[in-house]
Amino acid sequence: MKKIILFVLILLFQITTFSEVKIVATTTVIYDLVKQVGGDKVSVDYLCRGDQDPHFLEVLPSYMLKIRKADIMFEIGLGLELWAQQLIDGSRNSNLKIVDLSKEIEKKDIPTGKIDASQGDIHPNGNPHYWLDPDNAKVIAQEILDALSEHDPVNADYYNSNYNKFVKNLDEKMKQWENKMKKVKGKPVIFFHASWIYFAEHFGVKIAGYVEPKPGIPPTPSHNADVINLIKKNNIKFIVMENFYSDNAPKQISSATGIKVIKVPVAVFGMEGINSYIDMMDYLINEFAGNI
Ligand SMILES: [Zn+2]
Repeated sequence: MKKIILFVLILLFQITTFSEVKIVATTTVIYDLVKQVGGDKVSVDYLCRGDQDPHFLEVLPSYMLKIRKADIMFEIGLGLELWAQQLIDGSRNSNLKIVDLSKEIEKKDIPTGKIDASQGDIHPNGNPHYWLDPDNAKVIAQEILDALSEHDPVNADYYNSNYNKFVKNLDEKMKQWENKMKKVKGKPVIFFHASWIYFAEHFGVKIAGYVEPKPGIPPTPSHNADVINLIKKNNIKFIVMENFYSDNAPKQISSATGIKVIKVPVAVFGMEGINSYIDMMDYLINEFAGNI
């Protein structure tokens, strides 16, 4: 009898682990949103850490292994993860379903005219940093909901109710964030990298300029001088930079002008205590509103 019970338990364990949808997310923001929607019906792993620059990820066999075991891979798209294709090829997972989360996003910064390397790290289909607009977090979650429900229709209702819970929480937070950001509206801010257009347009922050001379091109002394002039002539509030970039240039600009430099995480686990998308947005909003 004991043996039979044990056998049944093992069988049950195998069935439950087998039926779990295995997900790999390129970034930790996706990782969190998959957890919100997928709950305990999915197992999820991510590739780029929250404190790493998502534009550049080393191609490691351990990442290929994570993709090999996955049913679905979610990516930001729009050319953010130029490293992903090599990992997918290396994973040799012929059953992998790849979902580009940018499909339904209203893209910004689509370059016009001829595109060449002199324009810097240009994304021909639009700026990929769309997750910094909380409205887009809903679009991402919806895309995740659709993919999970299609792959695992038995649990579609469960995913749907998780999605609704997430959207409800986000909507409540959104009211707080918009309230706090009222005093930042229309204020000019310098950013390090061209990753803030979605955030800035959502909250009405004015992008006065960038520390990078072109997207993805490291700061130069002559461009630093331009930024210093810009700050001296205008009442610019602060410089905001992702915490994985070198702060050499922002520090130089700051010592010449007295402007504050704010280093922030732009991903989940990008800093201690940032364990969800909502944590990250809370942190960003408090930094902007608290430093104005
Ligand atoms: Zn970028």
